[in-house]
Amino acid sequence: MSNILIIGAGGVSQVATVKCAMNADVFSKITLASRTKSKCDAIAKLIKDRLGVAIDTAQIDADDTDAVVALIKKTGAELLLNVALPYQDLTLMDACSRAGIPYIDTANYEHPDTAKFEYKLQWAKDGEFKAANTMALLGSGFDPGVTNVFCAYAQQNLFDEIGEIDILDCNAGDHGYPFATNFNPEINLREVSAKGRYWERGEWKETGPMEIMFKWDYPKVGVKDSYLLYHEELESLVKNIKGLKRIRFFMTFGQSYLTHMKCLENVGMLRIDEVEHNGVKIVPIQFLKTLLPDPASLGPRTKGKTNIGCVIRGLKDGKERQVYIYNVCDHEACYAETGAQAVSYTTGVPAMIGSMMVAKGIWSGKGVFNMENFDAKPFMDELNKQGLPWEIIEMKPGERYEV
Ligand code: NDP
Repeated sequence: MSNILIIGAGGVSQVATVKCAMNADVFSKITLASRTKSKCDAIAKLIKDRLGVAIDTAQIDADDTDAVVALIKKTGAELLLNVALPYQDLTLMDACSRAGIPYIDTANYEHPDTAKFEYKLQWAKDGEFKAANTMALLGSGFDPGVTNVFCAYAQQNLFDEIGEIDILDCNAGDHGYPFATNFNPEINLREVSAKGRYWERGEWKETGPMEIMFKWDYPKVGVKDSYLLYHEELESLVKNIKGLKRIRFFMTFGQSYLTHMKCLENVGMLRIDEVEHNGVKIVPIQFLKTLLPDPASLGPRTKGKTNIGCVIRGLKDGKERQVYIYNVCDHEACYAETGAQAVSYTTGVPAMIGSMMVAKGIWSGKGVFNMENFDAKPFMDELNKQGLPWEIIEMKPGERYEV
């Protein structure tokens, strides 16, 4: 039985908090705290109305480490789940190591001014967590998160050696808007407008943004244009999957999204530096976020499915093997269960499962860890129980779903 403090009250948080409340045998006390307390109260009301479970709420500025330490002490929290923004990762990690409790998040640290996302500064806190006799679990969403667990499961159970991994993220949902993002617009647009990067034979190769595209036939979804992006799980998987020769990440985008993004980029609306407008300083991408639909509001309008998974190629018993491990999620079913669409759902459910692994002591240690550092099987079992069932297709060596 654990006492959890959840920070942030957006779409991902709503799913993670609902799912923690659905697992009250593990999470005996839940406190939801965020910058805007009314958003926490709205999630608390939804949980009370639907599940009859009462949770506590609080106001917090997660950039203020002292205030977070005080809140941990006040609530008696035994673990902290960060589903605020990646900008808060370092201050919340510091609060956890100071309070001596485990830290869990879903996205690696980004500095608001540089658009650079990498694990370096979070991994550097390994010594602090060791000294505090506790742990940090990084990237417990879907990608990163479940995709790392799929790779770890393959390494631990399906292959003697893994040579190539392609991570394939398809969102075939339709929300009816010409342009909207499925999670925080600022974080999403920074990610997809960056240069592409993949890892091959020991070195990083860079491409232009969206330069490499291929068509992939996603099971239960269909054929979608898939673009090569850099994604943060590549950084840890390159380190942790031994013998890996190539790893790439692809995400699907529709033409309307791409056309809007190109126009916004061309006119400077994706800039992350300050510009002066009528004597007021604004950051264009933050202003754009204000204009775009709130991702949390997409839930009731989104129809269709997501399919996220990994195609893994390697050797087993001296023979070539290729498997495709994936999950398919339905936007409308996610909304019916949690009041949020599938992108929030596929992130919030693994955030809860990662917290559960830590709360139950199934995943334990001292220091800073990525998902693939642990036994994948118990996490994979929970995915099947908690709403993200996975399937494995045994593909012929060399067989492609590319069309
Ligand atoms: P939202 O923007 O919907 O929610 C973020 C929440 O964090 C808001 O409630 C916001 O408060 C709160 N917040 C922001 N700054 C602070 C602060 N300084 N102190 C306290 N609270 C703060 O984001 P999402 O729910 O879409 O995403 C949440 C996280 O999940 C992000 O880190 C995102 O990168 C990650 N993610 C990970 C994925 C994965 O698969 N691994 C996929 C999708 C998302 P307020 O409402 O007041 O602004």
